[in-house]
Amino acid sequence: MGKIELSQVEKWFGETQVIKGINLKIVDGEFLVFVGPSGCGKSTLLRMIGGLEETSRGKIFIDGADVTNQPPSKRGLSMVFQSYALYPHLNVQENMGFPLKTAGATKSQIKESVMRVAKILKLEDYLKRLPKTLSGGQRQRVAIGRSIVRNPTAFLFDEPLSNLDAALRVDMRLEIAKMHRDLGSTMIYVTHDQVEAMTLADRIAVLDSGSISQVGSPKELYDFPGNLFVAQFIGSPKMNILSYVEISKRFEKEAVGREAINSYENANQVGIRAEHIQIVPVGKGNFDAIVDVVEYLGAETFLIAHADSIGDIRIRVATDGGTDISRGAKVGLRFDISKIHFFDSKGVRV
Ligand code: ADP
Ligand code: MG
Repeated sequence: MGKIELSQVEKWFGETQVIKGINLKIVDGEFLVFVGPSGCGKSTLLRMIGGLEETSRGKIFIDGADVTNQPPSKRGLSMVFQSYALYPHLNVQENMGFPLKTAGATKSQIKESVMRVAKILKLEDYLKRLPKTLSGGQRQRVAIGRSIVRNPTAFLFDEPLSNLDAALRVDMRLEIAKMHRDLGSTMIYVTHDQVEAMTLADRIAVLDSGSISQVGSPKELYDFPGNLFVAQFIGSPKMNILSYVEISKRFEKEAVGREAINSYENANQVGIRAEHIQIVPVGKGNFDAIVDVVEYLGAETFLIAHADSIGDIRIRVATDGGTDISRGAKVGLRFDISKIHFFDSKGVRV
């Protein structure tokens, strides 16, 4: 079992509050990701769950038991960090078996567990090698392996892939997803990378300055961001944000669009994702705009365009990779009315 519950959890460093009353229930077997910008409190919160950081107020429960004042060793959790220190003089097998050895397991128990884990992480061919002879990705796999051997109640990961190069990160992401499927254990994973969060999570908790801004499945957060912060944090390229007044002007001549937009009279700002804007002939869309930048990525191309009529605001548009639009072109932009998000003056979804 690996059910984890946070109840009104707070963290103060002296006079500074960095975790501001967090409530969250993580169900057994769930892959939960904490995502947010640097400094928002992700590591602190994870360390509080692990017992490495004292909880100033509130309570933490694991499988119903209050562990708020328990040391890390009593919590049955396993942690993997960005910087993974392997013992340089021990080979892969010995490194992975180390936690079991210190826990007093017998040689045959250690061997059996290490072999099982080596198989999961495809490390069978490297068991006799020293860490210095391994690549960064292999070393990180050993560090993860070392955390699995003890059959923890849950895993805590703090940006475990951020030291790896881009291609390896993608590979390791798949392996972590597969490991989660194979083991079925609860995993809490911290990252500042929203792509990592989107691809791995059952649920994502978006943190903003020590508070949870929104919790939901990747699709919920993408399709129904609860506020401007989440709207702009999740998704790449960033959601376009424009003023409500400007948008309503642009739909004045279209009965259906005008009615839809007017029904959000409390709105102050609107958001629309790049893929929900279509390129149409000049004069046929909601805006005419000049293309300033063409970002060709192969499968798709992002355009950054500005419409004179709305000052300096830039609009990102996604088109397919085969577009022949070039910098300086004048285009029409048509917004998909059903995909517009509306936010009030506080940035809350309406
Ligand atoms: P993240 O992991 O999201 O980047 P952290 O949890 O590391 O953020 O930090 C959250 C905030 O708490 C930051 O403002 C950081 O400076 C502060 N902080 C972290 N650890 C300490 C500490 N030991 N003493 C004082 N402030 C700290
Ligand atoms: Mg951190």
